[in-house]
Amino acid sequence: MGEQAPDGGRKPAKAARTAAAGKGPAEETAAPGKTAAPGKTAAAGTAPAKAPAKKKPAAGKAPVEKTASTEKTPAEKPAAKKPAANAASAEKPAAEKAPVKKTAAKKTPAKKPTVKKAPAKKSAVKKAAPARKAVAEAAPAAAVAPPGGESHAALVRRARRIDRELAEVYPYAHPELDFENPFQLVVATVLSAQTTDLRVNQTTPALFAKYPTPEDLAAAVPEEVEEILRPTGFFRAKTKSVIGLSKALAEEFGGEVPGRLEDLVKLPGVGRKTAFVVLGNAFGRPGITVDTHFQRLVRRWQWTAETEPDKIEAAVGALFPKSDWTMLSHHVIFHGRRICHARKPACGACPIAPLCPAYGEGETDPEKAKKLLKYEKGGFPGQRLNPPQSYLDAGGRPAPPAAAG
Ligand code: SF4
Repeated sequence: MGEQAPDGGRKPAKAARTAAAGKGPAEETAAPGKTAAPGKTAAAGTAPAKAPAKKKPAAGKAPVEKTASTEKTPAEKPAAKKPAANAASAEKPAAEKAPVKKTAAKKTPAKKPTVKKAPAKKSAVKKAAPARKAVAEAAPAAAVAPPGGESHAALVRRARRIDRELAEVYPYAHPELDFENPFQLVVATVLSAQTTDLRVNQTTPALFAKYPTPEDLAAAVPEEVEEILRPTGFFRAKTKSVIGLSKALAEEFGGEVPGRLEDLVKLPGVGRKTAFVVLGNAFGRPGITVDTHFQRLVRRWQWTAETEPDKIEAAVGALFPKSDWTMLSHHVIFHGRRICHARKPACGACPIAPLCPAYGEGETDPEKAKKLLKYEKGGFPGQRLNPPQSYLDAGGRPAPPAAAG
């Protein structure tokens, strides 16, 4: 999905982003000659917080950002209980939205100069502006009161701002399962249950080399397939599912993967999550993928208090235009895998910290947080053995094949 977006430090989020990129980024950015322009990553390695602060007044964005910052800051961070720097501005607004907003906005600037984190906030805050427009145009009609006392309109703005920031941090976001056609994607997605995409990617080459079509896999000897799938765990059940869905594809759909949700969910081992992954990435049809990362992050961001995947899908879907759903899913999942981890999120290196109510749930020390970054953000290989060119251009590295893993 593109290339790394390094930031020279002109944007707020950039600072954090840069930080996030940190060392890894340095490598990524460095390598990614093409993304050079974004300069964001480049600036990264160095003191993320400070650099941004000074450059905030940056050119282009300045106008829009100011507006945004003034009004959004308060609304968005209300629920947040951020530490020190961020906390200050975030908590104040919490009390009363409208009035607080303006006040908060004014204060932010004053503090920034002194506090390291402040800079990050400003930057982030400024970017808010653009969000407004979007909101005005696509604000969902029937909205359920968001958690934390935030108005629905404010939640929509903050949610979209977060997605825009993530789009800059992960311009190369993409499905992390290797596949060359819809059949391979649906099989790989079924195999990804209870294991990592990396493990699946290291396993499927042998599977698809031996069984390249639904007809081939439908006629396979289960025990032989089980041996190939053993590394993915639950291999007997998975063997049953992939052979079963292959038979269904061969017998009911002419050997082709159907492009409709209602057909996909009827296939053995295929639920809504898998169906949306296939629809969004093999057919270009918008879909939200509510996996474990997605569930964890949208709850931390207070986009919804729902806990059931279907309800989360509906609640989050109401915050974004349908056309954003697929890439939104990639952005959120990429962030969950690289920075906002389940056990120890790297808050100190998180580019969207100023927008996150859960800031502080993880490591806030910038240096310690950088060490928690994974995959390309930490300077390591990704999960795909054959990642998109945009990922490689951004400095990302392919995952090693099974033998080396
Ligand atoms: S919990 Fe921490 S790492 Fe996760 S999004 Fe919020 S600030 Fe970023």
